[in-house]
Amino acid sequence: MVQLNVLLADAQQQASNHEANSMLNSMFNKENLDKFKIGVDQVVQLLAQTLDVQQKPFSGIFPHELAKQFSDIDLNQPLFDIQEALTEVTQLYLKDAVYFNNPRYLAHLNCPIVYQSILAELMATAINTAVETWDQSGGATFIEQSIVDWTLSKLALGKQADGVFTSGGTQSNLMAMLLARDFQCQQHTGHINKQQGLPQDFKRLKIFTSQVSHFSIQKAAAILGLGYDSVVSVPCDEYFRMDVNALNQAIKQCQQQGDIVMAIVATAGTTDFGSIDPLAQIAAIAKQSGAWFHVDAAYGGGLLITPNNKHKLAGIACADSVTIDYHKSFFQPVSCSAFFVKDKQHLSVVTYHAEYLNPLSQQQAGTPDLCNKSIQTTRRFDALKLWFSLRTVGAKNLGLAFEQVMHLARQAYLLLASEAHIEIIHQPQLSTLVFRFIGDGSTCNQDLDELNKFIRKQLSRQGDALIAATKVADKQYLKFTLLNCTTTISDIQHVVRLIKQYGYQYLASDLANQQTPLNTPVKEVSYG
Ligand SMILES: *Cc1c(COP(=O)(O)O)cnc(C)c1O
Repeated sequence: MVQLNVLLADAQQQASNHEANSMLNSMFNKENLDKFKIGVDQVVQLLAQTLDVQQKPFSGIFPHELAKQFSDIDLNQPLFDIQEALTEVTQLYLKDAVYFNNPRYLAHLNCPIVYQSILAELMATAINTAVETWDQSGGATFIEQSIVDWTLSKLALGKQADGVFTSGGTQSNLMAMLLARDFQCQQHTGHINKQQGLPQDFKRLKIFTSQVSHFSIQKAAAILGLGYDSVVSVPCDEYFRMDVNALNQAIKQCQQQGDIVMAIVATAGTTDFGSIDPLAQIAAIAKQSGAWFHVDAAYGGGLLITPNNKHKLAGIACADSVTIDYHKSFFQPVSCSAFFVKDKQHLSVVTYHAEYLNPLSQQQAGTPDLCNKSIQTTRRFDALKLWFSLRTVGAKNLGLAFEQVMHLARQAYLLLASEAHIEIIHQPQLSTLVFRFIGDGSTCNQDLDELNKFIRKQLSRQGDALIAATKVADKQYLKFTLLNCTTTISDIQHVVRLIKQYGYQYLASDLANQQTPLNTPVKEVSYG
């Protein structure tokens, strides 16, 4: 038996070791608050310097150029100093980061954010709330639930509706397909997938979605054991909206084959075109065919809080489930996203009662444990940033900012349409524009593909503006995604000038024949 006095002596020894132990000096608590404040000041100063020197959305660096700088870092050798570590991070990260707040960032759906949301992030991270159970979150649970209920009131999904925060649209779409799959299996075969796994004839389950819907539907089908082959790609009309006649036909064919119409996924704001499928018509078809009706409003969800464009989502109230990414059109930091369902009973598909965490008795006693409706366990308190933004900026102003970028997209459309050497293939529905440079029309399609790839590469390498690219009918296009309310039409004009400049440069050089990419060296960016 170890003597008590030996244990006590050992404890004393440990305590004195601790004085030298920097963990005690590093924990976030009252004792270390002064050091924390200094650190916060240092970070804010660095951000200020960064924003000050950062004229471009991107430095233009290539991966292999940046990768070199990582070879000298030994993570087993700490710097022990915040200022030194910040200098290192500046070199490895901030210097060549992509700046979404830059008015000439026009590429992906990642948005610039309101600064108030960052303050909320700091708080939530400092407290380190884990929002999966009441006993780890307290008021945070009610803040998340309030944001869910607030969004539900805008969606008008009805009294039985509920929702939960997720890591993003991909996870929300996975949840939608999971709930739909298990509901349909039970409907058609009485089979409980959660308990028994998939039924024998699961291959009969088919998911219908438009040919321009998000790839996460295919991914969800694969993860859920149904495979890409279970996804039926429905053609679109000329506005890139799901063609309801084609949908009806595809469903008929499915039923004739003895297959099951598991789900119809409509998109409210496709990633490339911002197109909104005819939700009310699709809802009726879903009802008639017994399909689960999911609306992927990852991008278009922002319309819910616009003063003048809510009607574009008409029909969403009929959805069985909805995906909304606040980290796209609500100007919130990554991650901030949620999944909603018309009948909350379906969420039991993801409920598992663990004795140590969320025992059944706790649910029966009415304890609000959010993990009962999530596929995650430990989960960030992502609702606080939106809550704080609603309380300090206001939903109306967030909605107005989305309307402003929609307006800018229409102006940009007119600008591009007036350019003889640019072909634009759709009217903007939300805030994206898909187009390509076509020169004087004498270049063949294959060369145009190379030409447009070249333009995007050049823009990225020079870093003055970032734009995206996509393929339509196998042809290479360029894409603007406008989410920055500080971007003006003269920024767009500037970027269009650059696009034309690189386009003509390509045509004038013998690149068009050689097909070798031009490697313009990046100018050294001075960094304060
Ligand atoms: C972005 C997007 C998704 C995926 O959302 P993440 O938050 O990136 O996971 C799904 N659907 C649509 C229409 C999107 O635009």
